[in-house]
Amino acid sequence: MEFGQDFVMGAAARVLEVIAFLVLAAFSRKICSRRFSWASDPPTDAPVGYCLSWRLAVEANNVRSWRTVPSWCLRHVEDYMTGGQYERDIELIVDQAAGYVKDIDVSEDGMDAWILDIDDTCISNLVYYRGRRYGVDPFDGPGFVAWAVRGECPAIPLVLRLFQRLIEAGFKVILVTGRDKASLGEATIANLQCEGFDGYERLIMRTVDWRGKGAVAFKSGVRKQLVEEGYRIWGNVGDQWSDLQGEFVGNRTFKIPNPMYFVP
Ligand SMILES: [Mg+2]
Repeated sequence: MEFGQDFVMGAAARVLEVIAFLVLAAFSRKICSRRFSWASDPPTDAPVGYCLSWRLAVEANNVRSWRTVPSWCLRHVEDYMTGGQYERDIELIVDQAAGYVKDIDVSEDGMDAWILDIDDTCISNLVYYRGRRYGVDPFDGPGFVAWAVRGECPAIPLVLRLFQRLIEAGFKVILVTGRDKASLGEATIANLQCEGFDGYERLIMRTVDWRGKGAVAFKSGVRKQLVEEGYRIWGNVGDQWSDLQGEFVGNRTFKIPNPMYFVP
């Protein structure tokens, strides 16, 4: 009788093991197939974490030369940019920069410099990009110029605070932007002034000599010139990797988040 009971229980346990194995195998196949089809999934099939992974990959420069935000990440990017996390991320970056600044002995010779980018570093184009569905719509050059020439980009307050702290500490702050000097020079100067960016050493914009050249080449060329003039570049802050790559990038670089567009 006891032997019979043991036999039945053992068989039942084996049946349960087989069922558990089959369920696990089916579940694993489902997970694997989802993982490998991420890149081309239609919006309705995108896993919840996909857009978070995409944004992290963009910030880490693992995804490059992307033209638009994936349409199914519109809500994610909108929430990130407007829901508080974007500011929290900048706050941490600015805190790191401020800690680094405190440890630098600024020289009396006036050649200790920081480089700051302008668009979506010092001042924000979020209002404009809201109308471009936070980067889901492709870049529209004339539309952007029409926006920028109005000179209404608000300051990014935490970066303004860093800018002011740098000047108080005795650094020369040099603003370097890919904006075209001929068409946007006046508007940019006025915009910066209105938003409290007073006391910078120099504003360097793209001139005809640099038209058609990539941002890395342009910004490297500018930094090379500054270093040849004798400036020591202690820090370099930008929202694009092309602000922070190339030659003479500076002793430390600080990447401001931007999941809305990519500048090569
Ligand atoms: Mg920028």
